[in-house]
Amino acid sequence: MNEVFLDKLIHTLGKDSVIVDPADIEPWLTDWRGVYKGGAQAVVRPTTTQQVADCLRLCNEHRFPVVPRGGNTGLCGGATPDSSPANIVLSLDRMNRIRSIDTIANTLVADAGCILGNLRRAAHEAGRLLPLSLAAEDSSQIGGNVATNAGGVNVLRYGMARELVLGIEAVLPNGEIFNGLQTLRKDNTGYDLKQLFIGSEGTLGVITGVALKLHPLTRVRSVVLAAVGSPQRALELLRLVYGACGPRLQAFEYFTDACLDLVLTHVDGMQQPFAQRHDGYVLIELADTANEEALQGLLEEVIGQALEDGLCEDAVVSASLAQLETLWRLREEISEAQRADGPHLKHDISLPIECIPQFMETAEQRVRAVSPDCRLFIFGHFGDGNLHYNVSRPAGADSAWAKDWEGRIAEAVFEEVAHYGGSISAEHGIGQLKRQAFHQLKDAMQIRLMLQIKQILDPNSIMNPGKLL
Ligand SMILES: Cc1cc2nc3c(=O)[nH]c(=O)nc-3n(C[C@H](O)[C@H](O)[C@H](O)COP(=O)(O)OP(=O)(O)OC[C@H]3O[C@@H](n4cnc5c(N)ncnc54)[C@H](O)[C@@H]3O)c2cc1C
Repeated sequence: MNEVFLDKLIHTLGKDSVIVDPADIEPWLTDWRGVYKGGAQAVVRPTTTQQVADCLRLCNEHRFPVVPRGGNTGLCGGATPDSSPANIVLSLDRMNRIRSIDTIANTLVADAGCILGNLRRAAHEAGRLLPLSLAAEDSSQIGGNVATNAGGVNVLRYGMARELVLGIEAVLPNGEIFNGLQTLRKDNTGYDLKQLFIGSEGTLGVITGVALKLHPLTRVRSVVLAAVGSPQRALELLRLVYGACGPRLQAFEYFTDACLDLVLTHVDGMQQPFAQRHDGYVLIELADTANEEALQGLLEEVIGQALEDGLCEDAVVSASLAQLETLWRLREEISEAQRADGPHLKHDISLPIECIPQFMETAEQRVRAVSPDCRLFIFGHFGDGNLHYNVSRPAGADSAWAKDWEGRIAEAVFEEVAHYGGSISAEHGIGQLKRQAFHQLKDAMQIRLMLQIKQILDPNSIMNPGKLL
């Protein structure tokens, strides 16, 4: 603890914005999963962009590391400080004001500390959709979502966070304010610098405000669960459905029969959807602004075609909201069923979509060469090329299996991902969890450019040390 620095910090920001008591700091030092634990001399909770700027300027002068913290729902340990007692955790939680909603320009401008779920509800009340949606939306903050370039369930139709951002206000490590909080749809004036902050995981500065695109509300939904004979058939089904339904296609989720089996075993009240078991299943959702009958008719027509062409082996179309929700549960309960089953080695990967069937074959060979009897649970946002490639202990083995095999299995999976030109992190980022693999597998030239950008914006390396770079 540096008393001269802390006195200056408290004097500049005010006592109520700076936490220094170790017992009060403690809850800010761990990640959501409880995997990482760090140290800090203070937690700063500014209420204005100017206060963030004052804090960063002081930290930069004294060379104290700063760890930006949003809702702390990140899954890679990005918002958890390292063990240094010099760290300053900078929380945006008190910067939670919606600055404007415009239903003509279809934009929403908010402080970075606004909870995503609150922004979605505010947009909904104004008759618009903020499509960014994830299971952690009632805890995560829009600044954290943008800093991690979050994905979620609507990426197929609306893109990742990056595609929804029109403008950013951020504070650089030296305290300068980057004033890019515009709502223009068109601005071709040189490099688009706001993009640097999207996905930067707090390593280049602190995002303090975000301008987002809004979309029309989708009021009607229709869902089908299709049984497919192979991942290749799932790909062909995607081609057919996208061609026929275009932007109405909201979700195209895939899971193997092993995942279905896990859900039926571990989740109460779940029923087998088809008389027979199949290789895999695809859950397709269409959504539109109006006309439920037309949407249902379109879905039935396209699935009829898929059955006729042999792209799927069986299908069940939701006839009511309750049935729609039951079909979704078969997909959504997979994570819960995995938790009940015991520890799994999780890999959140993405691939060029056309390579998925081939990847599934060769990755399985590589993984089984390491552990022949392991169990594979593969599911995910197939339409985005994003698979959750999860590996679990052989039947009968105890939970310690994961610890022994983790490294070698991750290596096998990531090498196969690299072989097909995929990504080792589809949507969760790098943080501290995937830093080593990132540096091993990412193109060296691109890492060098990232380091040079970091050097320009953060020459004293105070921003989020030990994360990403
Ligand atoms: C149950 C659950 C489900 C999830 N589902 C998804 C999903 O479907 N898709 C998905 O993409 N992610 C998902 N996640 C991961 C997580 O919710 C996202 O990464 C989210 O965007 C993190 O936001 P946060 O506010 O919690 O950020 P934090 O966890 O607080 O921080 C994440 C990173 O961003 C930095 N950061 C935070 N705020 C700022 C800021 N204002 N300025 C600069 N840097 C900042 C931090 O330093 C850290 O590096 C899930 C997590 C959970 C727990």
